[in-house]
Amino acid sequence: MKSSLELVIVGSIGIDTIETPREKRIEILGGSVSYACAAASFFVKTGMVGVVGTDFPAEHRALWKRMGIDLSGLQVEEGKTFRWSGVYEENMDNRQTLSTDLNVFETFSPELPEYYRDAPYLFLGNIAPALQLHVLEQVHSPKFVLIDTMDLWINIARAELVEVVGKCDMLTLNESEARLFTGADCLNEAAAALLEMGPRFVLIKKGESGSMLVSRETSFSIPAFKLADFKDPTGAGDTFAGGLMGALAESGLADEEGIRQAMVYGGITASFGVEEFSLERLATLDRTQIDARAEIFRATCSAD
Ligand code: AMP
Repeated sequence: MKSSLELVIVGSIGIDTIETPREKRIEILGGSVSYACAAASFFVKTGMVGVVGTDFPAEHRALWKRMGIDLSGLQVEEGKTFRWSGVYEENMDNRQTLSTDLNVFETFSPELPEYYRDAPYLFLGNIAPALQLHVLEQVHSPKFVLIDTMDLWINIARAELVEVVGKCDMLTLNESEARLFTGADCLNEAAAALLEMGPRFVLIKKGESGSMLVSRETSFSIPAFKLADFKDPTGAGDTFAGGLMGALAESGLADEEGIRQAMVYGGITASFGVEEFSLERLATLDRTQIDARAEIFRATCSAD
């Protein structure tokens, strides 16, 4: 009998090559579910759903295990693991994708082990909307479902994306994606249009400017934790969302107050993640450090 899971996350697993103005790193661990599960692991028992090829290094799997992530939903297929490479511009604000090799990701069909299906919290990380729908069809009435997406799916699979978004509690995406998805320039208008698709909440990520949670009645913004320096922003959005879902699952809540508190933890976990490449900083992080930085953050945000 396996121990029950509080959170399940599905997404991509990549071997990334990343170039920043200061450093180039070749073939390092990445992917949306890798960052998100690592972030969530500080809060609750989390199950990963993803695919790797037979070339996937054992050390990466060992790291996830050390972090306490359940890997029963990890598929290994004959062939090469998904590869992605990108280069950051001088200011690190903009990033250009140099190559994307889907490899085993091309034929991926996420299948949830039976005991994953009762997890109360589900995060549909950035993969094709048809696959996100396939995951939703397998779960048994989760308490809270978060969905992430990207410009690619908005452009090539819009109808399926709208359908799956309508079945989730919260949609998260970044500013430019919110504008692309709705055609609205103003973020409040974009959020209103996204809420019309059915989710109760829309969470818009604004990078170094923080994030904004919008419901039909309310709007709430928090700044990002200010770092003196960071090395690699890759996966920051996935780390933010994974930390948020982990903290929400830990609280047992699914309401606006719970999400607001969880946003603080998501932001703080992401602020650690970008201090190093890949999962290198998250691998040495512990909950005490997260809580300490969250305290500093709350104090700087307080108007008292
Ligand atoms: P982010 O910085 O949030 O865009 O996430 C970066 C991660 O997404 C990298 O580690 C990549 O391996 C992964 N990635 C890049 N392109 C895709 C794609 N088309 N589908 C899924 N994951 C991707």
